[in-house]
Amino acid sequence: MATKTGIDLKKTRNIGIAAHIDAGKTTLTERILFFTGRIHKTGEVHEGAATMDWMEQERERGITITSAVTQAFWKDTRINIIDTPGHVDFTMEVERSMRVLDAAVAVFDASQGVEPQSETVWRQADKYRVPRLAFANKMDKTGADFQLVLDSMQERLGANAVPVQWPMGQEDAFKGIIDLVEMRAYTYLDDLGQKIEESDIPAEYAELAEEKRNLMLEKLADISDDLAMLYLEGEEIPSELIHNAIREGTVGLKHFPVLCGSALKNKGVQRLLDAVTLYLPSPLDVPPIKGVIPGTEQEDSRPADEDAPTAALAFKIMTDPYVGRLTFIRVYSGVLESGSYVWNVSKGKKERVGRLLKMHANSREEVERIGAGDLGAVIGLKDTTTGDTLADPDHPIVLERMEFPEPVITVAIEPSSKADQDKLANGMVKLAEEDPTFRVESDPETGQTTISGMGELHLEIIVDRLKREFGVNATVGAPQVAYRETITKPVDVQGKFVRQSGGRGQYGDVKIKAEPLERGAGFEFENAIVGGVIPKEYIPAVQ
Ligand code: GDP
Repeated sequence: MATKTGIDLKKTRNIGIAAHIDAGKTTLTERILFFTGRIHKTGEVHEGAATMDWMEQERERGITITSAVTQAFWKDTRINIIDTPGHVDFTMEVERSMRVLDAAVAVFDASQGVEPQSETVWRQADKYRVPRLAFANKMDKTGADFQLVLDSMQERLGANAVPVQWPMGQEDAFKGIIDLVEMRAYTYLDDLGQKIEESDIPAEYAELAEEKRNLMLEKLADISDDLAMLYLEGEEIPSELIHNAIREGTVGLKHFPVLCGSALKNKGVQRLLDAVTLYLPSPLDVPPIKGVIPGTEQEDSRPADEDAPTAALAFKIMTDPYVGRLTFIRVYSGVLESGSYVWNVSKGKKERVGRLLKMHANSREEVERIGAGDLGAVIGLKDTTTGDTLADPDHPIVLERMEFPEPVITVAIEPSSKADQDKLANGMVKLAEEDPTFRVESDPETGQTTISGMGELHLEIIVDRLKREFGVNATVGAPQVAYRETITKPVDVQGKFVRQSGGRGQYGDVKIKAEPLERGAGFEFENAIVGGVIPKEYIPAVQ
């Protein structure tokens, strides 16, 4: 199909890799980028110093924070990998990536099965109706148990897990994978994923493989009548029919294919990439994005079609040391062209699209246009923030809003000098623009500047970035809480006041009944008191 960008959407996958921290997402992503060949040159390539520098911090910390898009190619398919963080503090980052991807790979640690955070991520994916594959990673690890992963998916997530592979051996003895569709065995002769032997299923696994295949086929019989018929009649079932049933059930969220391997030992990664191309939806397979015509209540939707009016969503802002502000966008319909003007419908402002970039594992590619169903980054947008819709000025639409949760933790931040104060102010404004769950406030009662975020790690990273990117020296500590509280009435026997939700601390024997203020940091008290502790004299005598 000839399009303005020359991209075949049928051969495009926009996926996220979602996991509990430590399940092996970073290792798997690295292996995927390795096996997909890292750089695929299309058009003009600008290489050089400008690599993905913001990843430095992630590497040092060993966790994945950002949610950029990396484009890779597997066989003839373009795969945009939208990074989704695994730490609980970044739940919101996960949400916003869920918003722009079409499908996901959920990574589990095969020795742990479904862990609490994998449950959170899974539920978020459910909310956005994201089709998923599951990858049971760490099959080589002590305690690895493929059946455990399947059972815990069923029990903890209520997910209809369909194993499409079965491991040959587990833990130390993990040596390969049986493909239950093709009924072929893949034995890994090294730990580099280079020497892989494809063969018939070894005799010792023949019975197991037959049993597991039947289990898979029974589940797929619910999806495809043709397959069900052949299965019941004991006829041979063509692989294509099986692949189609797996794909149909996956795209329709009726089931979740489960694969296995070891990212660290380079086992199963190529098979997983095959499954991504075979079973996960293209941008054409997902429902058109919905939105509202501004100034009206009228709903509208936009198809993944380059000839439709342009509509794109900004889902991440990053500051890059070389090119400045990068706005990551997903284009849902139409085409975004470099040098053109778009209407930021959310802000009611015209914006100029400067340059457009596609990010590869270790290079960036400058492109003229990014079309419907594709993702990339824009340089030059000044006022666009996360969640904004960019649209054709003649056909405005506001795409579904992203919901941002309220921050849950607050610390005070104190610049070390006057010079730091100015840098701090500048840095915080920039970071708050990037991250809607990060708040900066000045407390009029204590005179302190406080920052709020989604968890300790979230704030730690912010302070780290202030230091690294803005050269700010500052100390952080517990904020002096300004209590503004109203003691209501004693309700307990023997003259004790009883504290209800929202109250903080207990003062001697006397408890306070407190009404939480809107944002939770303090509560109403009859006398406004500044400071962390309520002096005794302000606590009314107990009757
Ligand atoms: P993330 O937090 O999900 O990004 O996990 P990482 O990729 O950083 O991996 C966490 C730890 O698990 C690291 O020490 C990895 O070396 C290790 N790991 C990752 N994949 C495997 C695997 O397949 N087998 C084993 N045994 N360890 C792995």
